[in-house]
Amino acid sequence: MLSVVGIGPGALDLMTERARARISRADVVMGNERYIELIKGIIPASAEVVIGKMGTEVERAKKAVELGQHKDVVLVSGGDAGIYGMAGLALEVAADSDVKLEIVPGITAASASAALLGAPIANDFAVVSLSDLLVPWSEIERKLEGLAKMDIAVVVYNPKSKNRTVQLEKAHGIFMRFRDRKTIVGIVRNAEREGCEIEITTLEGLPAFYHCIDMSTTIIIGCSGTKNLGARMVTRRGYERKYDYETGNENADDIAMAGYVEAGNRIWERSKAIVADIVSKYSGSLSKHEQRVAERVVFANADPSFLDLLVFNHHPVETGIQCIKDGKAIITDIEMVKAGISKRYREKVMCFVNAPKSMEIAKKEGLTRTAAGIRLAKEEGLIQGNVVIIGNAPSACQEICALVEDGIKPALAVATPVGFVNAAETKERILSMGVPCIAIRGSRGGTPSAVAIINAIIEIAHQ
Ligand code: SAH
Repeated sequence: MLSVVGIGPGALDLMTERARARISRADVVMGNERYIELIKGIIPASAEVVIGKMGTEVERAKKAVELGQHKDVVLVSGGDAGIYGMAGLALEVAADSDVKLEIVPGITAASASAALLGAPIANDFAVVSLSDLLVPWSEIERKLEGLAKMDIAVVVYNPKSKNRTVQLEKAHGIFMRFRDRKTIVGIVRNAEREGCEIEITTLEGLPAFYHCIDMSTTIIIGCSGTKNLGARMVTRRGYERKYDYETGNENADDIAMAGYVEAGNRIWERSKAIVADIVSKYSGSLSKHEQRVAERVVFANADPSFLDLLVFNHHPVETGIQCIKDGKAIITDIEMVKAGISKRYREKVMCFVNAPKSMEIAKKEGLTRTAAGIRLAKEEGLIQGNVVIIGNAPSACQEICALVEDGIKPALAVATPVGFVNAAETKERILSMGVPCIAIRGSRGGTPSAVAIINAIIEIAHQ
């Protein structure tokens, strides 16, 4: 008889009684060194122990099938033998033999890790392995993309080993593109074994833990319904929508406040996935950071055709990121653009359109007020080396072009003025001037695009 036995994550009291019974009556126990070590206390002294190395699984399975024809053989797998374990291989190898074969299930790493984290897979979830030893990476990447787009928790097995380190970074990149950066992520190393470590972080915080992730680690990426409740990771099932926890009664209105928040999160997740998908199909030539900016512009306008109009000249995104890191000022043409810029950087944003002095300059020089606001910023020494954002007024963009011609150069120009008079022309002009520039070509653009561009840059700079 051949028993393929899942021994659970490590702690012997998490092994099933059936697994224990099979091991204690075995004539032969086979498995890799790590698993044999975990169960050595319950292997009978009379049993022959066959230790196999990683990479010799086929050989081991064949031997187990052969010996199982006349002895009680136990082939052990960690966790559950049917989940990235030996069960499938044993069945394949035994197909032409008349050995009696049974599979004894065990507690898999997903359940063990989930319990240590809280209840992160309490709703629909998926399991994926990052090991490309047996599966081509392109196939894993496709699955990751599909899963990242779905709003369900994902358990990641085999995240990293000594020789496989980039897979985790790539997988992280895919989830960052399709999911909210604040998504709760749990990391469990050596679940139910010596050296157990548990961390709860967010998707954007995950890279800070790469150094402590290894082949004994399971990662659980939450979804929009996953919360960090007092250092426990919990994916809500919907009880909160249906019941009032205080009274235990069903909510009269099925959609309680939590429901609204949840629904909002879902819409956000789905929009993000749709936009990321559109941009990834379009933008072979864009850098990763440029793609992020493009996603925000498409998202803000709900219009993929902006991808045909968006221009990045002279590495503007990297320049912009550096400007934000250096705390450079941002000058906007109108108050509305200023108001839309991320709160975390707004104190560095200035707009002079309503300054009394701009009014004077406008009258004296025959300029529009927005152009005069830019002229005033120049007089204050605020254009050279800083970020200029023209989200609305073509005349302000003209003024910037004139300043550049006079040798006063902003570090970055974001030019999305809108309209049928001069907007397209002035954007072409700034694009031709050698200044790092992000622009929306043609008559379209406006405040939403300008704000989307700079907020994407601010976000990247803060990661
Ligand atoms: N059959 C096993 C999985 C084998 S694949 C099971 O059902 O659990 C090996 C991967 O499982 C590891 O790279 C790791 O991601 C995960 N894993 C196995 N045991 C673990 C443990 N005790 N703690 C954390 N992760 C574990």
